[in-house]
Amino acid sequence: MSQKNISFGKINIIWGEKGSRFPYSNTLFIDDKIKTFIDPSAGLDVLKKIGDERIDRVINSHFHFDHIRFNYVFQNADIWVHKLDSGAMTDYFSYIRKYGGLRILGEQWVNELVNYLNQKEMKSEANSFTYDRSFYRSIGKINFTYQEGDTISFGKENAYVIHTPGHADSMCCFYFPEQSLCYVSDYNVLSDWGPWYGGEESSIQELIKSADRLKEIDADYFVTAHDQAVLTKQEFLKHLGKFISVIDERNRKIESLVKKDISFYELSDLGIFYEKKYHYIHWVRTWETLMLIKHLEYTNLKKIIPYVLKLEEERCLESL
Ligand SMILES: [Zn+2]
Repeated sequence: MSQKNISFGKINIIWGEKGSRFPYSNTLFIDDKIKTFIDPSAGLDVLKKIGDERIDRVINSHFHFDHIRFNYVFQNADIWVHKLDSGAMTDYFSYIRKYGGLRILGEQWVNELVNYLNQKEMKSEANSFTYDRSFYRSIGKINFTYQEGDTISFGKENAYVIHTPGHADSMCCFYFPEQSLCYVSDYNVLSDWGPWYGGEESSIQELIKSADRLKEIDADYFVTAHDQAVLTKQEFLKHLGKFISVIDERNRKIESLVKKDISFYELSDLGIFYEKKYHYIHWVRTWETLMLIKHLEYTNLKKIIPYVLKLEEERCLESL
């Protein structure tokens, strides 16, 4: 169910295609003196219709595919990323490493993917988005970095940068004081799926700490990247609690499985996070495995089964 785009002053919320689900997201279009997109991933047609030459600035809340997707279309725009994403957004190897590819699938796989992406022909051999070159087209151009505490001015509207690491070490939320509106990026609190922390520098602890920080934001309205709704503060807080509690549910599930003497490989093959039918996609398998590792680290279970984990981690990689 998609709803009509909503405006707050000069800030227009453009709901994403396909219910704003990956690889799409909501986009904020700030139709001010400096025309800006935040997370230009709502859809190619809808964003181009606004005018690909009119856009002065693109801001990415973090480096993920579904937040940088159509940066490359806006050739005249300056691209702003968090300072911790300046490496990943500059070259394929760093990008793939940061998304977990190096740790889980190894250097050879990363090098092969980088070589593939560097080939000139645009014909895609893709049987999944891993090998869809369009997903990587925005990597390679950045103009400015921002960080915690910055105020970004658009003319009439301003945004305060609130650094909220966890989902990604770089992820930021943007608070617009004139409109009492906060864009909370991937705190997709209406999603039953729960939080994501499958990147190299993702952290469950940080994600929970950042959620606590968001509770202190004195905004009347909250908008997420993938839910098609504007939430009041009360609604946001209510759903945020439920969203974060998914982490404990997953912990309990994993703990009970580990007690049954299940191996790491078996654990990573169960589909605790992503349905098994998607595991053939290299990125999905990477994130499934890395989210599992983050849980084992978070609950200290890794200490109990350190050798098993190491051996099984290697076997897991061979099987891909
Ligand atoms: Zn993300």
